[in-house]
Amino acid sequence: PAKPVFAGELPKGLQKISNIIAVSSCKGGVGKSTVAVNLAYTLAGMGARVGIFDADVFGPSLPTMVSPENRLLEMNPETRSIYPTEYLGVKLVSFGFAGQGRAIMRGPMVSGVVNQLLTTAEWGELDYLVIDMPPGTGDIHLTLCQVAPLTAAVIVTTPQKLSFIDVAKGVRMFSKLKVPCIAVVENMCYFDADGKRYFPFGKGSGSQVVQQFGIPHLFDLPIRPTLSASGDDGMPEVARDPQGEVAKTFQDLGVCV
Ligand code: ADP
Repeated sequence: PAKPVFAGELPKGLQKISNIIAVSSCKGGVGKSTVAVNLAYTLAGMGARVGIFDADVFGPSLPTMVSPENRLLEMNPETRSIYPTEYLGVKLVSFGFAGQGRAIMRGPMVSGVVNQLLTTAEWGELDYLVIDMPPGTGDIHLTLCQVAPLTAAVIVTTPQKLSFIDVAKGVRMFSKLKVPCIAVVENMCYFDADGKRYFPFGKGSGSQVVQQFGIPHLFDLPIRPTLSASGDDGMPEVARDPQGEVAKTFQDLGVCV
């Protein structure tokens, strides 16, 4: 068998983290950040110590989706390590909390920034670090897998046939990187209106992925105005309504990871 991609010494900042879960999608806008944030707050609600690392340097969503009091990461002047900010008990690191960033960065710079933010943050003891990956299958994914031993990946997609091809690409990438894909979340599956259920993107491509690649779990998330509203309001839906239907789906996902 091929050697695992992660072969280096574990960076100090990551040594006390039990599980690192990557939430990934192959396209933007399918709800990856929504799933990452709600999964993290679900795990925290179940009593785990949790952090979120927003690895999307070009379009960081975390500063919109959660509203910590302190919106700027601080640095320890001696050790130069970063103190994560915190909201409802979850530790948060995002380029969006790093102050004025450069508007244009080249690939190697981006990887460097991601690497630095992840490994120099003082995460402390965590049961789970949830990483909101950038969309696609690129440089940053490789960097992340090289610096951090990912425990598992959760793939977010929409039910369209078109997405199937992209998801397959993502699953193959993680498989090459020796990271098991444990679940697919089919987001925006359906909505209910006038007593009827509508499937605007069709049905079935999620189960096809799960079957073809032997992924153990598939979850459906409906289109819910409250999900987008809570994303915009900085309060994760599962924290706002911990007994709701969406929260139940995330609890099932939380049990899998
Ligand atoms: P990505 O991280 O894949 O780019 P986001 O999580 O940022 O996607 O979601 C894109 C937009 O869609 C956001 O405005 C979000 O609030 C909204 N959204 C995501 N999932 C749902 C859903 N199930 N119902 C309603 N709105 C959603």
